[in-house]
Amino acid sequence: MPPVTRLAPSPTGALHLGNARTFLVNWLLARQQGWRIVLRIEDLDSPRVKPGAEASVLEDLRWLGLDFDEGPIRQSDRLDRYRAAVDRLLAEGRAYPCVCTRRDVERAASAPHAEDGATIYPGTCRDRFESVAAAERFAGRGVAIRFRVDSEPIEFLDAFAGFQRFDPERQLGDFVIGRSDGSAAYQMAVVVDDAESNVTEVIRGDDLLSSTPRQILVYRALGKPQQIPRYTHLPLVVGADGRRLAKRHGDSRVESYRRCGVPSERVLALLARWCGIDTGDSVTAQGLLNRFNLTHLPRNPILFTPECDKFLREGAG
Ligand code: GLU
Repeated sequence: MPPVTRLAPSPTGALHLGNARTFLVNWLLARQQGWRIVLRIEDLDSPRVKPGAEASVLEDLRWLGLDFDEGPIRQSDRLDRYRAAVDRLLAEGRAYPCVCTRRDVERAASAPHAEDGATIYPGTCRDRFESVAAAERFAGRGVAIRFRVDSEPIEFLDAFAGFQRFDPERQLGDFVIGRSDGSAAYQMAVVVDDAESNVTEVIRGDDLLSSTPRQILVYRALGKPQQIPRYTHLPLVVGADGRRLAKRHGDSRVESYRRCGVPSERVLALLARWCGIDTGDSVTAQGLLNRFNLTHLPRNPILFTPECDKFLREGAG
């Protein structure tokens, strides 16, 4: 079986240049090394899913020349699989119902904080309810399901970010795998999907680095430790102020450059520069295949500056 990777866009908006950079790196690694590419649409966060976003992402990928071998697989078609996995972990005592609201968790004075500022769940509902039904009766509504972590450190070797070690109790806390509306949370869906698609390589932004130990715990709890993929976390593309790429940094959507006549080759030339490859003003994804080398990728966050935007817009025909 060849290695398998996936492109996993969330159709909560159009692709921005940061997403495109991640997909390009993923695609280049895959096509250099003969991995299969699965396209998976992560459309579980239904209130935030935007009509038309999936079509726009598909068009952007086609325009950039990033093809795939399987999919699109939609998470919204797979709710039963996630439910079965959550129920299994509940039945085995690896997970428990939780009636706390976000505000309860934030207010809990004893809640320690992870380095990234996220609140660590203080464990209020651990061993509190006999069953999900009992928790729901208590709360008078649907309840979330949390994975029970223990103190054993989680270690893995990231193919770009290097050796990683997390203390689950101190840095992660019991995390949500099932949401109170009955749908699965990201940490569960991603593992069920990656395992079923036989994904062996996960390439994504390093904002998800601390999700990886959680996902490793879920793989183990589901009895699939041999399926844990190899992880490659890439430095994020950020605005000139160092903050995560957002509207305040201008319109960095691939779609808006495409619509105003910027050639895809020019967008790819900028993405290539962000990968440490100087191609001048124009290159195709295919043209980068024999030039891309993961070890040449800059180690610091990549800056999307007004000059980057100017470079792209100057190319509009
Ligand atoms: N859908 C996620 C995103 O767009 C990616 C999740 C993943 O790669 O595991 O950020």
